[in-house]
Amino acid sequence: MDNKFLKIRNDFPILNQKVNNEPLVYLDNAATSQKPQAVLDEMVRYYQNDNANTHRSVHTLGERATEEYEAARGKVQKFINAKESREVIFTKGTTDSLNLVAATYGEENVSAGDEIVVSYMEHHSNLIPWQQLALRKHATLKYIELTADGQLDMADAEQKITVKTKIVAIAHASNVLGVTNDIQKLAQMAHLHNAVIVADGAQAVPHQPVDVQNLDVDFYAFSGHKMLAPMGIGVLYGKSDLLKAMSPYQYGGEMIDFVEKYQSTWTDIPWKFEAGTQNVAGAIGLGKAIDYLTEIGMQNIAEYEKHLVEYALPKLLEIPGVTVYGPQNQINRNAVISFNLKNLHPHDLATALDMDGVAVRAGHHCAQPLMKYLNVVATARASFYIYNTVEDIDQLIYAIKDAKEFFK
Ligand code: PLP
Repeated sequence: MDNKFLKIRNDFPILNQKVNNEPLVYLDNAATSQKPQAVLDEMVRYYQNDNANTHRSVHTLGERATEEYEAARGKVQKFINAKESREVIFTKGTTDSLNLVAATYGEENVSAGDEIVVSYMEHHSNLIPWQQLALRKHATLKYIELTADGQLDMADAEQKITVKTKIVAIAHASNVLGVTNDIQKLAQMAHLHNAVIVADGAQAVPHQPVDVQNLDVDFYAFSGHKMLAPMGIGVLYGKSDLLKAMSPYQYGGEMIDFVEKYQSTWTDIPWKFEAGTQNVAGAIGLGKAIDYLTEIGMQNIAEYEKHLVEYALPKLLEIPGVTVYGPQNQINRNAVISFNLKNLHPHDLATALDMDGVAVRAGHHCAQPLMKYLNVVATARASFYIYNTVEDIDQLIYAIKDAKEFFK
């Protein structure tokens, strides 16, 4: 399997460079992924040949642009196994998708005294929209606890999700703890009490097969830029019945049916939620990224990344002074490893690693309540993707030992 993945690296020209005189080892994939040449070429091709505004023109270029944009929607539908392509709304990204749900479904369905259930491992994107909604509506925000090794406490979830719950909003995979949550089970708990479940798939869709029908999620959000596509394009999946009943998110061109002087009506889903000129090249780039990932196979990707984690985790844990957050064994871990080195601020550690060509992220990872829960101010985070290799991990381990020696 490794050989196939070694070749993949050649498709990513950005990786072929030196940083601080060392070959670049890019391990900040949870923040954003690099883009293969095929995706870059596809976007250039679109701009060179077919660029026009979609849905507005009957001329040839306009028709081509519309066709390609809608074809990209079809690719997303297939990729996440949505029942219908109109259940796929193009957004700017996960943050935009989650804000859309909070501002429309949330605004219309949450009242004073209701409860919204989140967890301690949420990214701010899947926390603040709900926190602010709860404040506006005088609803209560409840947090599902974590187990000692950083997994979602499912027994606590069962306690927290009650008849009062209107929305359960949970990450499918954590961007800090490296765990994948049992969304299917959480969906059952939510539905038992007639609540909806919103899953934040930003760290799941790029790394594992995702089937929204099988998960039985009501809403599912993810970003293109973490899965080989450009920035500024993302997806909100929603069950069609829910989407149809919801008010628009933004108002303007493209999302109307009829506009009269003092009132208007809205067009059908998904366009009702796509006001104004859309990121057509971004959607087409996302479609190409999906082709690329599908060609490799999402199950193969999940297995390859598991193999990288299996290689990295014991090596990291072996270094005296290293603390890893989240489960200490590979079972149920995804390709994100957050860690700290004793007596060294993670920012200093990340700067030292950069001197050895290794790019990791350091900070609170947009998860401040989680940092508080873990009793740390910040962590360093190495996150892997399809073009990473065991040699990259060797360089990471070398660089950590190097930093340790330097700051001794
Ligand atoms: N949710 C999770 C779990 C993430 O890791 C991220 C990005 O880091 C987001 C949401 C936000 O994604 P975006 O910034 O693309 O909207």
